[in-house]
Amino acid sequence: MAYIQFLGAAGTVTGSKHLINTGDPSGKNGFQVLIDCGLFQGPKEWRERNWRDTPVPAKDIDAVILTHAHLDHCGWIPRLVKEGFRGAIYATPPTIDLCGLILPDSGHLQEEDARFYNKTRKSKHSPALPLYTFEEAESSLQYFKPVFVGQTVELHADVSFRFVRAAHILGSCMAEVSLHADGRARRLLFTGDIGRVQDHKVAPGKVVRSGPQEGELADIVIMESTYGNRLHPREDPLPQLAGLIRDTAKRGGSVVVPAFAIERTQKFVFILKHLIECGDIPRLPVFCDSPMAIKAVEIFLKHDEEYSDETREMIRKYGTPLAWPGFTFALTPEESKKINSAMMPSVIISSSGMVTGGRILHHLAQRLPDPRNLVLFIGFQAPATRGFIIKSRSDEVKIYGDYVPIRAQVAALEQFSDHADPPELLQWLRTFRNRPETTYLVHGEPDASDKLRDLMKKELEWNVQVAQYLEKVNVA
Ligand SMILES: [Zn+2]
Repeated sequence: MAYIQFLGAAGTVTGSKHLINTGDPSGKNGFQVLIDCGLFQGPKEWRERNWRDTPVPAKDIDAVILTHAHLDHCGWIPRLVKEGFRGAIYATPPTIDLCGLILPDSGHLQEEDARFYNKTRKSKHSPALPLYTFEEAESSLQYFKPVFVGQTVELHADVSFRFVRAAHILGSCMAEVSLHADGRARRLLFTGDIGRVQDHKVAPGKVVRSGPQEGELADIVIMESTYGNRLHPREDPLPQLAGLIRDTAKRGGSVVVPAFAIERTQKFVFILKHLIECGDIPRLPVFCDSPMAIKAVEIFLKHDEEYSDETREMIRKYGTPLAWPGFTFALTPEESKKINSAMMPSVIISSSGMVTGGRILHHLAQRLPDPRNLVLFIGFQAPATRGFIIKSRSDEVKIYGDYVPIRAQVAALEQFSDHADPPELLQWLRTFRNRPETTYLVHGEPDASDKLRDLMKKELEWNVQVAQYLEKVNVA
């Protein structure tokens, strides 16, 4: 009896890991494939699971199929290798390039955290150890194998798969897995994260193709539900964005934008260029202050097969963003510090997106106390992060051990998400060529998954279940 076991992203939005075993439920004698191998993030209760071994020994897993390069989908790979995994990790070429950037960076952060805890003796474990190091992350990259979209890969006599587009971020895909189990052919679709619809007013600024692959056919679907209980605003945010930037420039202030280094920063840079060239905002200097974001732009430029038509047209017209006049990409700490002495007004985009660390801290420490400035959020802010505190318009926020007063204007635009919301998901699901036997919802907080399950049952009359952590479900 072949089965799937949910080893992560069940009951939460992080730690995506779904195991297919072609053998019996004892787990023995089967071919084992892991779809995604993500890091648990957020509440401690989940993060602690990063330290537990997989319920199946890592060395017994035969292959990994990776949908995309977000840490909650790929960030546990170096640990899996550290625990003895030696199979192949299949991913698209852009996903492999992005992993080459973010996995070593994640290892570096793990080492820094361990050093910090050892210094402040906050850890119960002495000494605190990193989950994996920079070197271990780099060494895990040797197991990656490129697979092109649409290419069929035979993993085993009974298991093959191919990638189809998910349109979530650069290189992101869904995995269609074909199984021969107990004399039956079965098709499983693992969606990974699902991108937005093709509508530039509703989902503006997509730098990569939008719209997930339509016309899918599957017996079993394992589907994300991040936005199961939320709706994206429907109005075009660009007029509001232009207004906010114009008003800030008029009062002599700067716009500070905390943004995730991958995808969101590139998206915002293209939107700014568009608004400048249309004459909707003044030609302000734009500083992109994140070494990772710059490297991500380079990777993005390498994969022009992924561009949206608008991006292709912008690059044809204006050339590479790294050489746009008025746009400065700061790499070294010295270049970053120079931005602080730059003349106002300007636009500064920096990471981390939730203000948990990185260069955004010194830009905010300097600019939050001045009411002429604007802090603009274009991404999700998890509770208890500095980004959340600023976005909730508290009086002050702690940065580098000091309380910084929040006097700058604070605004948030919610339209830039890279996840489809319920109406968009239904629109995509209605393109399926069949009604799958069962759909398991993963990658959502419990309320989001429950709401999406109820909506899909009502609107589509599909059989939908919310996956439980460590639950095994038969697929044959
Ligand atoms: Zn993602």
